[in-house]
Amino acid sequence: MGGIILGIESTAHTFSFGRVSTDGELFPSFSSLFRPEEGGIHPREAADHHSETTSQLLDRLSSSENFTWDSIVAIAFSQGPGLGPCLRVGASVARTLATRLSVPLLGVNHCVAHIEVGRNQTGCIDPVLLYVSGGNTQVIARSDGRYRVLGETLDIGIGNMLDKFARSQGIPFPGGPEIERLALAHPSMGIKCLDSVSLPYGVHGMDMAFSGMLTSATQKLSEGHSLEQLCWSLQEHSFATCVEVAERALAHTGKSELLLGGGVACNERLREMSNLMCEERGAKCHWPDKSYCVDNGTMIAELGRRMLECGIETEIMDSAIDPTLRTDNTEVLWD
Ligand code: AMP
Ligand code: MG
Repeated sequence: MGGIILGIESTAHTFSFGRVSTDGELFPSFSSLFRPEEGGIHPREAADHHSETTSQLLDRLSSSENFTWDSIVAIAFSQGPGLGPCLRVGASVARTLATRLSVPLLGVNHCVAHIEVGRNQTGCIDPVLLYVSGGNTQVIARSDGRYRVLGETLDIGIGNMLDKFARSQGIPFPGGPEIERLALAHPSMGIKCLDSVSLPYGVHGMDMAFSGMLTSATQKLSEGHSLEQLCWSLQEHSFATCVEVAERALAHTGKSELLLGGGVACNERLREMSNLMCEERGAKCHWPDKSYCVDNGTMIAELGRRMLECGIETEIMDSAIDPTLRTDNTEVLWD
């Protein structure tokens, strides 16, 4: 095997090391997910988790098949956006490894990495990305040398909304997969059921909002509706919101591929709704394997690879983290 690029992801709950070969072959990541004992994710506690799991993850990486430290040609890390204390752990590990191995360092835009790993894995070329994760919800498309945000959440990320609703019912983080399971257990699916558990709709022009539907769903529970019914209704409303904005983005840009990314893209119902919308307008819907939808080091390595191909490197003095980095801050020089 030729050289490999190592990618380090640490924007929020997940600390992960992944790799890609210089010719674009993706390898599974070694990850550890911070699960708070109670409440939401406290940035300092998540950062402590990342520090404490570093050596164990590096051990797993270095004893994996065909891995050698001297095959590493660059170290990529998530420079932003994300939680400051968490980003700092990943950046420190990346600087240490790059210096120790004498290889280039690459500061990567986490949101753009979701697009590039999806493009690599699915073979789509110029998609609209529906990026649905814990902290981020954006509809993105490439135009004029950048990935532009065409629409985004005005309040909380869709995954965060699902996690908060789950937490209010005693379901631990991450709540999304359990909400999916409960929604499937709802006995009478069909559009008519929405009448009895209708929630505020989340589309605002090209933007989205999820906190209103969260408040209303919690209220409806206290009025006696079942948890299964509300999980189902929350999914229908929040996913329809995202799919509608994604459809408008396809219409406005004239693009014919939709790519799903982010942890919520693991959801089968979201995939089904997105696929249906695409079929109806002659577009093609793609999603990567679930392990590449959730945050992972491999996607960071993949964007690092694309940057390295274009001669981009990050000097140590320019490697400070940027918690508020925007998707369209990053110039896209690669194909
Ligand atoms: P990320 O921030 O991209 O790693 O994604 C994590 C988010 O994805 C969390 O909010 C999870 O609850 C959510 N998630 C993971 N799997 C599912 C699923 N099957 N359905 C809905 N949400 C999910
Ligand atoms: Mg993410």
